[in-house]
Parts: sequence; structure tokens; C-alpha cells
Amino acid sequence: MASLYKMPLTKLSGVGVKRAELFAKLGINSVGELLNFYPRAYEDWTDIKSISDVKNGEICCIKATLGTPVNDSYSRGGTILSKGMVFDDTGSLRILFFNNRYISGLLKVGEEYLFRGKINDEGYGLQMLAPVFSPSSEENGLHAIYKQTPGLVSKVISNCVKQALTLLPKQINDPLPEQVRKTFSLCGLREALEQIHFPKDPEKLYDARKRLVAEELLVLNLGMKKLKEHSRGVSGVKISADYSDDFKSKLPFELTNAQKHAISDCVSDMLTKSSPMNRLVQGDVGSGKTAVAASVIYTVIKNGFQAAFMAPTEILARQHYETFKSFFENTEIKVSLLTGALKESEKKQIRSQLADGEINLVIGTHALITDKTEFKNLGLAVTDEQHRFGVSQRSKLLGKGDNPHLLVMSATPIPRTLGLIIFGDLDISIIDELPPQRKPVKTALRTTAQRKKIYDFIRKEVSEGRQAYIVCPLVEEGEIEGLVSAEEYAAELMLNQFQDISVGLVHGKLKSDEKEEIMRKFAANEYSILVATTVIEVGVDVPNATVMVIENAERFGLSQLHQLRGRVGRGEAQSYCILISDSFSESTRARLEVMCSTNDGFEIADQDLKMRGPGDFFGSRQHGLPQLAIADFADTKSIELSQMIADYILFTYRDLRADELRLLNSEVEQLFEQVGQNSLN
Ligand code: ADP
Ligand code: MG
Repeated sequence: MASLYKMPLTKLSGVGVKRAELFAKLGINSVGELLNFYPRAYEDWTDIKSISDVKNGEICCIKATLGTPVNDSYSRGGTILSKGMVFDDTGSLRILFFNNRYISGLLKVGEEYLFRGKINDEGYGLQMLAPVFSPSSEENGLHAIYKQTPGLVSKVISNCVKQALTLLPKQINDPLPEQVRKTFSLCGLREALEQIHFPKDPEKLYDARKRLVAEELLVLNLGMKKLKEHSRGVSGVKISADYSDDFKSKLPFELTNAQKHAISDCVSDMLTKSSPMNRLVQGDVGSGKTAVAASVIYTVIKNGFQAAFMAPTEILARQHYETFKSFFENTEIKVSLLTGALKESEKKQIRSQLADGEINLVIGTHALITDKTEFKNLGLAVTDEQHRFGVSQRSKLLGKGDNPHLLVMSATPIPRTLGLIIFGDLDISIIDELPPQRKPVKTALRTTAQRKKIYDFIRKEVSEGRQAYIVCPLVEEGEIEGLVSAEEYAAELMLNQFQDISVGLVHGKLKSDEKEEIMRKFAANEYSILVATTVIEVGVDVPNATVMVIENAERFGLSQLHQLRGRVGRGEAQSYCILISDSFSESTRARLEVMCSTNDGFEIADQDLKMRGPGDFFGSRQHGLPQLAIADFADTKSIELSQMIADYILFTYRDLRADELRLLNSEVEQLFEQVGQNSLN
């Protein structure tokens, strides 16, 4: 099988350079990859109807003989109409093709075929419109439907797959050892490949799917387990005293119980385990993760170590810097900020103070993980908004110390099953409680026709001293037709509706110091309204903002909308989120209605996963997860099965390097290379 991944598609008859390029568009570059290009759906050709039983409007399959030659004629509009009569034992009907000049040459009188198409019976006699057909000797079972690209239709792909299957060597080495297959009733690889592309019946297809899904998730699972094992060296960081009680008095508020729990989870990891802490703190937006991190950082620093806090954006890093400075105001702890936007000379100075241990806590962006940054004795690495960082960035930060503790914070509520895979290498604490006196944000869905009312509402809030965000999907005018751009929108507001109100504009194309300045002004209430793109999505904290308006809300994923909504409702005043969308699509409105009906991030994440799949769920592939070929992250049962198999394998063979697992192990390694994590061994 391995050699097929090196065999170019042009080895297949009927595939030249041109067609190979079309395949490449689908991400298929070798015969092996073609075999791993699984159908997206199937048509059932097993249920064959008698012509006497077919009904108007239904899509069905008949087995019939061509009785008259297919005749071409032209309609008045110039369309080629090809007609023929077919019959079986129970009756006859007309088959009708449009604009296909080759049809008449393909079908032969007296031959029996399977035809599948839509029945029309509206007074012109019984017809089947533009049927797909195959010689009756050849076809039975379920027909695979592949994702197509212009110039490369499913049927052609299917023919190529058929050829590719014949190239499989007689004895293929199966990555799943026989014992594993037997134990979990999984079919062999050859059987699975044959049946996934050309299933004989639904049962065979089910078995093939089960096996391929199990293998794919298993590889992911084993990779995560490997990662976890890998990170369990002995910590070079000795934490012997808990200072979190001491820290409480420095906070301007009382910690919630959930915050206290998360802190004590972390502290007990660091105090009692020989291996370093590897903990994820997951909490909805506004649940107060920063204070948790601060408490843990305080304890680590009091034990004589340095701490690093990495945020995904400049804005966020600066904001955290301000927060931590105020938390640690009356202590001897020295806090610094290290981001790409600083002058070279400033960065140099901070780096030298980090190296000689003068700085206790550094807050920063990716600048923290460049080679130039060194620590004297890094004891704790914290990453905020985990989904913005890949696994490899996380491990780079850890590499700055001698097995330091790791605290990962995420506001993206991950459905539990998915969490098992993505965070398989982490222990998890969940902050499931919001600070008191928080009123849930009220959310409404509106159309653009109601803008005037919405503006009146913003004006009223602003007149009470509050602030509003208006989020648009685009930065500049005309990037995509029909979508609102932030620049245009801000200009319009400044010139018309809100001449007398200060309006700011922030978007990702601004330089980071410009962004900072605008965010700073908004936080200082120098702007009452901030028109923005999703740059404000993550973490920014302006408790005085009470209105979040989102234009073209249909363009955003639920989890993203939830993050945006989390920018308001951070103070004690009632806050509002207004989703604007003119989409009439039922599924879109249903999606947006979910936002109106709940504020629970986990519920929203679950819905999002169900409705859009995990790719969109994360907005992009930044999460470091590979694209799945056949499995589905929403498929809890299969994820659980794969977990069981993974445990079984590790129990049975002890080590992934066991001889029986050679192929499986190399799949695991390949996968992690692909997602940019190559420090597995
Ligand atoms: P997130 O979990 O989204 O990172 P933050 O840490 O930014 O949330 O906290 C959100 C806001 O809530 C901040 O203004 C913070 O000062 C405040 N806050 C955090 N914990 C508490 C608490 N226990 N009581 C009251 N306010 C709190
Ligand atoms: Mg935060």
C-alpha cells in the first residue's frame, strides 16, 4: 500500500496530465491518496422498481432494455433532446436526456441497463429524466458519490478508483494488527477500501466505515497519548509552598467557588506531582480566568521562579499586562511586556532582564517563543485563548525552561468528546460559574430594515454613559458584494446618524500600535461607539460596553458569535447583543436563534459542531487538528470506541514501537508531522 502513495495518478489509464491536475484540486496526488478519497454519499441501486410501480416525482432505479434507438432532436431554444424507449416485464417508459450529444452512441438497442433518475408522469406519458445508467450486468449495490470539481465528475472518479483498487498488492499490510481487528470486530483494510468505494450492501458499507473511522480516530488518539506521555518528564521546578491565600487579599473582588477550585487544582498539581502540571482551565467568556492565572503565577513566583504568559494578539497582551500590573501593584513582583511591536532596543533590554532573572513575569505574544528569548528559571508557562495556538507553539514556550508547569486557558467551550481528542494530553478544570451580579446578555435577531430602531437604542445607551460595539465582517468596501465593511460603515455613522457621538474604527489591517491606541481610547471611554471587525473577538475587556451589534451575523459561526457577545455583559449593567441578518435561509435563522435562546457556551459549541462541523467550529485550522478523511468529530460513539481501542493497544503491546504496530505508529508520526508537531520522539 505504501508504494501507492508514491505512484502518480497518470499511471492510471484515462488519466493524463490535465486530469491529474483536476485531481490535484481535490487534494489527490497519488493512487494511494485516491484510495483514501472517500465518497461523500451513496445512491442506492439495490432497490430496483418495476416500471409499473414507479410514481411521479420519485427518484428510483429500474432495470430495463432499450427498445428503440435513442434519437436526437433540437428544441426551439436549441437544446439537444435525446429520447429513447425502455421496457421491462411490467411496462415501458421514455428516457430523456438534455444536451448530451454522446448519449445516442452509448446506449444500444436490445441491451439491458440499470437506469436511475427522476420520474415524470404529468400528462406526457411516463418519463425518466436524465437518468444515470450502467449495463445491468455490472451494477448492483450502492453507488459512491464523490466530491467533484468542474471537469471531473463523480463517475469518472469512481472509474479511476476502480482501477486503483486493482493495483493494491495481494497481501496488504494492515496497520491494525489482526488481534485488534478480531477483538473489536473490524474488517481488514482491503475489504474496507473495496467496500467503502463499491459497497455490495448497506451492511458491508457500515463495516467498512466503522473500520476506517476507527483507524483514523485511533491514530489521532494514540498521537495525543504519546504527546501526554512525552510531556511527563520530571519537573525541574520545585514548588513547595502555596501562596494563593496570600494572593486573595490583592484582588479587588471575592473569587467565585469555581475560580477557587481551578486554582486549587493547579496548586495541587504543582505541589504534589513529580511531573509538571499540564492543565487546561476552560471557562466561558467573562468567567474570570485571568484571576485564576494570576493566583497560580503568584504562587510560582513566590517559590522563586519566573512565569511567562502568552496571548494571541498585541491588544490582548497589553491588556493583560495592565491587569497583572495592577494585581501585583504592592508586591515586589516585576512585570514586563514583550511583543513584536516594541522597539528593538526595548526588546533587547527586556530579554536581558529575563535572562538574568530580574523580571518575574513576562506577558507577551509570539515574541516570547522566538529563539532570542531566554529565561533564568522559567517555572510556569501560561497560554491564553489556547485555540489560537498550535500544539507546537505551546511546546516551544515550555522549551524555554527545565520542564516548567503549563497552564492553558481557553474560552472556547469544546464539546466534551472533542475535548478528549484535542486536549487528550491535558488535565482539565472547568469554571462553570460567572462572577456574581452578572446579568445574562439579552440577545435579539433583527433585519437591516430595523436599523433605525437599533441606532436609537444605541443612542439611548450612549446617553446613559454606556458604550457600544458594532462588528462588521469585512474591513474594506467591496471585498465581497452585499457585505458590510467596517470602514464604510464607520464613515457613514460619523457623517450621518452619529455626527455628535465619538465613533472609533478598528480592524486587522491597522498597524498594531494604531490598534492599541484605538482600543485604549475605547477602554477610556473616549469613543462611545467602536466599529470593528473580529479583531475584538478575543478577550478584550471593557466592562462599560453594554451593546454589541453584529452586522451580517449569518457570516459568523455560533462559537464566534458567542465570543463576540462575550465582549459585553462584563460589568453590572444589563447588556444587549443584536444580531442583524437579512438571510431568509431557514437553517441560518435556526442557527442564529440558538444565540437568542441560550448564553451557555457549551450548549452553543455543541450546536455549532452539529450544524457546521469542527472545521468551521474553530474558524480555521489554527487549532492544529488535521482534516479528517472519513471520521466526524461530532460522532461521540466512534470517538469513544477509538479511545477503547487505543487503551487496548497500549495495554496489549505496551509500546507503540512494538513490531506489530510498525505501520500504525508511522501513521501516528505522519499525522503529527502534518499538523506541525514533530517533537514526538
Ligand atoms: P475571561 O475568563 O473571559 O478571561 P476575565 O478574566 O477577563 O474573564 O474576567 C472578566 C471580568 O470579570 C474582569 O473585568 C474581571 O476583573 C472580573 N472578575 C473576574 N473574577 C471576578 C469575581 N470573582 N468577581 C467579580 N468580578 C470578577
Ligand atoms: Mg480572558
